[in-house]
Amino acid sequence: MPASAAKQLDHKQRAAEQLLDHYRSNARVLPWRSPPGTAPPDPYRVWLSEVMLQQTTVKAVTPRFERFITRWPTIEALAAASDEEILGEWAGLGYYARARNLIACARDVAKRGGFPDTADGLRELPGIGTYTAAAVAAIAFGRDSCAIDTNIERIVARLNALKDKAAIRAAAEAMVPAGRAGDFAQGMMDLGSAICRPKAPECRSCPLQDECASFALGRPEDFPERKTRQARPHRHGLAYWHERDDAIFLVRRPEKGLLGGMAALPGSEWRHGQAPDDAIATIRHGFTHFTLDLHIVESGAAPPNRGWWQPLAGIDEAGLPSLYKTAVERVLSGRAGKSPVQSPRNA
Ligand code: SF4
Repeated sequence: MPASAAKQLDHKQRAAEQLLDHYRSNARVLPWRSPPGTAPPDPYRVWLSEVMLQQTTVKAVTPRFERFITRWPTIEALAAASDEEILGEWAGLGYYARARNLIACARDVAKRGGFPDTADGLRELPGIGTYTAAAVAAIAFGRDSCAIDTNIERIVARLNALKDKAAIRAAAEAMVPAGRAGDFAQGMMDLGSAICRPKAPECRSCPLQDECASFALGRPEDFPERKTRQARPHRHGLAYWHERDDAIFLVRRPEKGLLGGMAALPGSEWRHGQAPDDAIATIRHGFTHFTLDLHIVESGAAPPNRGWWQPLAGIDEAGLPSLYKTAVERVLSGRAGKSPVQSPRNA
């Protein structure tokens, strides 16, 4: 933008213009995006990526997104798939409540004949909160909605040296450029990922440096308010290992609760307690609100009534979440070790 025009704008508008200029030449190429200045991407792809990206990194999501889209290229195809197929494809991405909401949302959208095209309409769908609704409305439908996630909150807090959440929200809303909310949201996501990171922001290469109040103060990392982490309680659980004819017995976890609807080894509830003496392996796993030691014990008893024998040669097709996938691998590779093994967090 010409310098004379830039002078007419206020601080927030100038920052938004500089962000858009930067995004035009530096946008990340991602399979759910359209390049800046081209037609908006398919809302199905935008929605799917936003659901997958909640609590999961772009690096981890990208190959899984490609697999999902190849298997179910449209929301109608996804809506027609069985719960087991979708949960199996989701295995390893963690936060399984997202997968259950994804299934419910796909079926709702397919029944309606398409996604609503406003943030208010999108918010009525299962599992779509304020942020996701605003992001899909802005990116896929060109609505002037303001999608505020932790990245955008951090950048806006630093730009304006703000700590109060309501003030940060108001400042973010005032920045959204009319007709370009989608590029603005994606530009902010890129800036938050590559430059204005939570720790050690790269202010020297930031296109918004001239407009940044926290940089001027010399303490960008003081904004927004830092949260103090509470120590998580620790629990123990048993997983029973039934094996015969090169197959192990698996069950489906109850629909409600952690890892709901996912394939698993049969087992006990997860409670405070102690490690058993006869575990053939122990897996340590971090959930959001507690850590777990899952102790795998060989069972001589009959397996539960409901479940199936999964051939060990086809264990990858069982759709096990990371906790149980790691448990099976640990037993197969060691069978005698008892030291805790860390499984990928929340996966
Ligand atoms: Fe973030 Fe630094 Fe850029 Fe300010 S100058 S927006 S703190 S990277």
